[in-house]
Amino acid sequence: MRIEGSLHDEIDRVLFSEDEILREIQRVAGEITRAYSGLEFTVVSVLKGSCIFAADLVRKIPLPLSLSFVSAESYHAGTVAGALSLRWLHADEEICGRHVLLVDDIVDSGSTLSAIRDELVRLGAFEIRTCVFLDKPARRKVALTIDFRCFEVEDVFVVGYGLDHAGRHRNLPFVASLRSGTSVAAAPRE
Ligand code: 5GP
Ligand code: MG
Repeated sequence: MRIEGSLHDEIDRVLFSEDEILREIQRVAGEITRAYSGLEFTVVSVLKGSCIFAADLVRKIPLPLSLSFVSAESYHAGTVAGALSLRWLHADEEICGRHVLLVDDIVDSGSTLSAIRDELVRLGAFEIRTCVFLDKPARRKVALTIDFRCFEVEDVFVVGYGLDHAGRHRNLPFVASLRSGTSVAAAPRE
């Protein structure tokens, strides 16, 4: 049955299937498990985009870890990136003096992760590493080391597996590009 206004109408092509995603997460979780073996650490998941990735990732890491969240919202007016607003949800002892693994859905210009990294330093994190689900290196403006990543992605606007367009599509179990003609301007990005 075809549902009018179905989410799938806005999808162009699937870039990463559910099976591929779960395989890559297993691989990256193995790297993280080896890197943090013997350490207690905190995973900071950047909301909303990385909630699905972080949920799948941490369940594949058999080490003692805490889970904290920061919500990052940046407002874009046309092509100009606006201010970033951060809201933290953590206990001080989850960040201060801790090894922190910062987890986000996608690194694009790099400015969001870089700003959150700076804040983690200010909050007293002992050491910070970064993990992203998707990396768009062609768009990088801010130099930033990415320690762990699942996939490199071409310079197209993608949705699914946590990533949204105007608040929708986060619940798609795969990653897809948007059909051309679907407006990607002006919505706040989280
Ligand atoms: P930045 O440019 O600061 O590295 O990325 C900022 C945020 O923009 C990302 O965390 C993500 O929420 C959003 N973003 C960047 N590229 C895409 C994309 O292709 N699709 C979606 N849905 N969000 C994106
Ligand atoms: Mg984000």
